[in-house]
Amino acid sequence: MAEPLMRPKRKNPISRTRLPTLPPAARSYAALGLTAAAARGAFELQVCRDCSAVQYPPREVCRNCLSQRLVWRAQDGYGELTTETVLHTAQELFFRERLPWRVGMVRLDVGVNVIAYVHDRVGVSPCRVRIEAALDRAGQAVLVANPEHGRHALSDDPKLREMTCDPRTRKVLVSDGKSEVGQAVTRALVAAGADVIWVGEAEPWKKIPGFEALREVPQVKIVPLDVTDGRSVRELAGEIGAKVDILVNTADCHRTFGIAARRGIETAQLEMDVNYFGLLRLAQELAPVMKARAADGPTGAIAWVNVLSIFALANYPPHGTYSASKAAALSLSQALRAELKPAGVRVINMFPGPIDDEWDQLVLPPKLALAALAAALVEALKGSVEDVYPGDVAQDWRARYLDNPKVLERELSGGERSV
Ligand SMILES: [Zn+2]
Repeated sequence: MAEPLMRPKRKNPISRTRLPTLPPAARSYAALGLTAAAARGAFELQVCRDCSAVQYPPREVCRNCLSQRLVWRAQDGYGELTTETVLHTAQELFFRERLPWRVGMVRLDVGVNVIAYVHDRVGVSPCRVRIEAALDRAGQAVLVANPEHGRHALSDDPKLREMTCDPRTRKVLVSDGKSEVGQAVTRALVAAGADVIWVGEAEPWKKIPGFEALREVPQVKIVPLDVTDGRSVRELAGEIGAKVDILVNTADCHRTFGIAARRGIETAQLEMDVNYFGLLRLAQELAPVMKARAADGPTGAIAWVNVLSIFALANYPPHGTYSASKAAALSLSQALRAELKPAGVRVINMFPGPIDDEWDQLVLPPKLALAALAAALVEALKGSVEDVYPGDVAQDWRARYLDNPKVLERELSGGERSV
C-alpha cells in the first residue's frame, strides 16, 4: 500500500538546494508522437494504414509491410503484465537517486509488447493491466501500467508522484483573484487540498462580492498584484517568490472587439498589457526562482499554468484583438516551457472555449461553466499533461484545427461557423 500524500517537512533553510536530475529525454523523431499524445492525456500508438498492424516502439516504417503510411491512433491500453523486475542499479543519475524502481513488460491485447513503469497498486505478474501514457519530469512520454479495473492516480504511487503536479499540500499563487475564473480556480484549489493560496488583487478599490468572500477562507491570502505594473510584480516576487510551488496565471483582459468596430488601439493595448506582457512580467520575476527550486521535491516548485483561450489557436474575428493577445501569450508560454524544461517545472496551457462570464455574454451556448474550467485545471495538475482543452467547444476547435487550420480560419472568417 502506498503512503498517502502528506504535508512535507519544512526545508532546512541552510541546506543547499540540489540541482535537478531528469530522466533521459532523448527520443527519436518518430517517438515524439507518443509524447505529443501524452501531452494531452492520450495513449496513442502507430497504426499502419496499409496492413492495420499496430506497432511499438515507434518507427519510420511499418514493421510488417514496410509501408510509410503510419498514423497515430488512440489505444485502450489493455493487456497483460507478463513479467516484471525491480531495478536496484542504474546508470542514469535520475534513477540512481530513486531506486528501487519497478518496471515490467506488458503484452497489449493489440499484439505488441511494451516496457512500462508498474504502479504500486498493480498485483504481482502475471496479471491484467491497463497502460496509460504520462509525461515524466523531462517532459517526455513514458508508459505506466495501472490495474485493469479502477484507475489509480499517479500520485498514489510515491515513485510516480513526481510526474504529477498535485496541488495537495502545495503553495500556489493565483495571479488574479478578481475575475470570475480566478475565484473559481481558487476555490477548486482549496478543495484540492492546497496548503496556501496567494491570490493576487489588482485595483483594491473595486469591491467584488465573490472576491471579498475569499478573504474568509483560511488557506487564502490576498496579496497585491497588478500584472500590468512591473514594480508590483517585482515586489510580490521578492516577498513570496521563493515559496511558490505552483503559479496559476488567471490574469485576463477580454473585450469584445474586432478591428473596425472601435477607433484607436487603447483597448487592444490593454489586452496585450495583461494577457501578453502580464505573462512576460510574471515569467521574468518568478520563473528563475521557480527554476532554482525545482529539485526540492515535496517542497519544490513544480508547475506553471496559463489560462489561455481556444482563440489562441485560430482568430475569432468578433474577438479579434483578444484572440491576437492570446496567440501572443501562447507563443510566449512555449518559450517559457522550453526555459523551465531543464529544471523539470511543467508548463500547462489551458485552452477553454467561450466561458460563462460577462465578456462572452453575447456568444451563443454551449459555454464552459466556471466550475468545469476550474475542475479541469485541478485535474490537469493531478495528472500528467501539458495541454488541456476543457469542454466540447474547445475539443471541437482543436479537432478542426488539427485537421486543417486553413479550413477553420475560413469557417470563422466567413461566418460559416460560430463558436
Ligand atoms: Zn503495414
